[in-house]
Amino acid sequence: MKDIHDECGVFGIWGHKDAATITYLGLHALQHRGQESAGIVTSDGETLHEYRQMGLVADVFTANVLHGLPGRSAIGHVRYSTAGSSTLLNAQPIRCVFDGGSLALAHNGNLPDFAALRAGLMRRGHVFHSSSDSEVLLHLIAASEAGSLVGRIRHMMTQARGAYSIVMLTGRELVACRDPQGFRPLVVGRLDGAPVVASETTGLDLIGATYEREVEPGEILIADEAGERSHPMPAPAPGATPAAPARCVFEHVYFARPDSLVFGRQVYLVRKELGRQLAREQPVPGAETVIPVPDSGVGAAVGFAEQAGLPFEMGLIRSHYVGRTFIEPESRIRHFGVKLKLNPVRAVIEGRSVVVVDDSIVRGTTSRKIVQMVRSAGAREVHMRISSPPTRWSCYYGIDTPSRDELVAARIPDMHPLACELTADSVGYLTAPGMHHAVSGDPEGTGYCDACFTGRYPLPVPEGYDPKKC
Ligand code: AMP
Repeated sequence: MKDIHDECGVFGIWGHKDAATITYLGLHALQHRGQESAGIVTSDGETLHEYRQMGLVADVFTANVLHGLPGRSAIGHVRYSTAGSSTLLNAQPIRCVFDGGSLALAHNGNLPDFAALRAGLMRRGHVFHSSSDSEVLLHLIAASEAGSLVGRIRHMMTQARGAYSIVMLTGRELVACRDPQGFRPLVVGRLDGAPVVASETTGLDLIGATYEREVEPGEILIADEAGERSHPMPAPAPGATPAAPARCVFEHVYFARPDSLVFGRQVYLVRKELGRQLAREQPVPGAETVIPVPDSGVGAAVGFAEQAGLPFEMGLIRSHYVGRTFIEPESRIRHFGVKLKLNPVRAVIEGRSVVVVDDSIVRGTTSRKIVQMVRSAGAREVHMRISSPPTRWSCYYGIDTPSRDELVAARIPDMHPLACELTADSVGYLTAPGMHHAVSGDPEGTGYCDACFTGRYPLPVPEGYDPKKC
């Protein structure tokens, strides 16, 4: 089975009469975090009810399906995974029955060494249904001999190393927890007195919940009939080094929605600041117009244009009706590529020297087509400016990135040949200190994971993978 690197969103609510419908809405506001499958599990106080399907939230859940999910508590999940692993078996929340009762789990993140963990569990007789690392988390909880659910989760936390923001549901309680380094976001809010947890605050906004705080790294939060209890991460054993926080900086650069508050900061404002910093570090002499790659480059392009004193124009218009499932007709008219998604506005491009701003370049294939599109709309010069450092390393903590040999900036480290590859007049990236300064004010990036840009992995990478040799 193929290893998978999940990009996901999670949601949970405890003690609300419309639990399933609210979870459906919450997932809808987290749809950008995963588009391949969606699922909801509810609890009626005794039994868990579930529905999971491949597809978008709005397509998976009909009124009838939601009606069949009774109970005052629910958790939900949206998931995207790399091709080859996108089967219904890997859709979440996943569920099991163990000697502690029924348990459902929804996971955002990735365990780099889950294959070794799973092999160990298999040797001890555990049977797995999927290729998902999330199932390993469920087994570690079930296999623990601790007397309480919190004890079992703590046991899992001592075994599993990696990124996990999790929501869980039993017949009697909702649980939210975050790995000790807090790679992926998770927030707590409140709706009509009921606690709500979500990957991002957009999940709270849509349902009218108020934001309260982040679930802290290493925290276990439990909600049940007795109320809510927080179990902070225990102090490290004497002599042991505490796990350093490693919040994913790429959530701010690309992944989270700009209207979300992530790690306590408004993503849109961070992106604008990244753009301002980019204009300081990588100015384009003689440029006349700044255009974003929609939607990923919009915030940074606004900041770039402001800082550079240049006009901002929506020079590329995005079609909102292109899904992943679009099938190109078998005819003379094929290979639309990026044209399906984007169309240039010739009037603001023609004859000008244009700065095209995006958040990142991965394989370079889309960026190259965008440069060509802008040029064919009459641009005199096309300069790519990227509001993060070159993506040169794979992520092992929950962002889907290809292997290093497919990352264009790892293959072509120098800027001039890279610009040639992209067919641009120039390409310029932000420095890592510049990015961190824009995100948190600290150029060192203390408390953040920037491994995809620097190769500084906060945890050991999987066996057989030596970043220095790649
Ligand atoms: P390409 O030029 O083919 O590397 O594509 C670059 C585009 O991919 C940029 O617009 C990025 O915003 C976007 N992008 C970056 N990371 C991801 C990701 N993990 N999943 C999907 N798109 C991404």
